[in-house]
Amino acid sequence: MQLQRVGRIQYIDVEFPGAVCSVQGFTTRHEGVSRPPYNSLNLGMNTQDQQATVEGNRSLLARAFGIEQEALVTPRQIHGSDILVINELNEDYSHFLSVEGDAVITNQPRVMIGICVADCAPIVLCDPERAVIAVVHAGWKGTAAGLAAKTVAGMQSEFGCNPARIFAAIGPCIQKCCYEVDEPVRKAFVQGGITWDACTENKGSGKWQLDLAAANHELLQLAGLPGSSIELSDHCVCCHSEQFFSYRRDRDESGRQMGFIMLKG
Ligand SMILES: [Zn+2]
Repeated sequence: MQLQRVGRIQYIDVEFPGAVCSVQGFTTRHEGVSRPPYNSLNLGMNTQDQQATVEGNRSLLARAFGIEQEALVTPRQIHGSDILVINELNEDYSHFLSVEGDAVITNQPRVMIGICVADCAPIVLCDPERAVIAVVHAGWKGTAAGLAAKTVAGMQSEFGCNPARIFAAIGPCIQKCCYEVDEPVRKAFVQGGITWDACTENKGSGKWQLDLAAANHELLQLAGLPGSSIELSDHCVCCHSEQFFSYRRDRDESGRQMGFIMLKG
């Protein structure tokens, strides 16, 4: 993963083998049009930033990669585990913006699918053989619900993907250094079959430091992806205020960055 610039957009580029995608990566907060505290590339619809400004930022992102804003699809994220599947051509994709879901899978070219995050892990997936892509919003709830693994299973059942051939990248999220959690999170993870001791550091007094990316790495491997096919970002969004938004750091004054991916036309 490395920082790249396309047009105005500065983003962390991911390289997947197979070259079926025109782009995949994770945005930073740079070079958008939002004013402080949302400066500047705030892509999240559900913040207190001005709607028109967020639309402007989404349009900047879409146009940097040669598509209209109507072809940028992000679902209404609710920290649930529903998956939006787009398996046919649409004239206009904007109606999907009101569909609730925390992951998207598609085989449609030139539709940019994205997930907006502040601390949660954005995950992008690609099966170069079947030309199928996905994005996942993995906060602690989505992680405990096994959403990353469910999305891989969805790629398998809807499009015949072989998990052993799927590549994944887990983008910048809040890291273990800044992510203290307590008993309800532990309970949910254990119920979800995640190895708690492997993704946490015990701080005592019922507190743990959680490594969200490591938990999702385990889920993806359980779903059948080879460990060598999963890339992890080591950027902590909470530590790096110059580069990323973080909800835990800035609360309601936090914008959203995006994990995004698009198949070639
Ligand atoms: Zn940190």
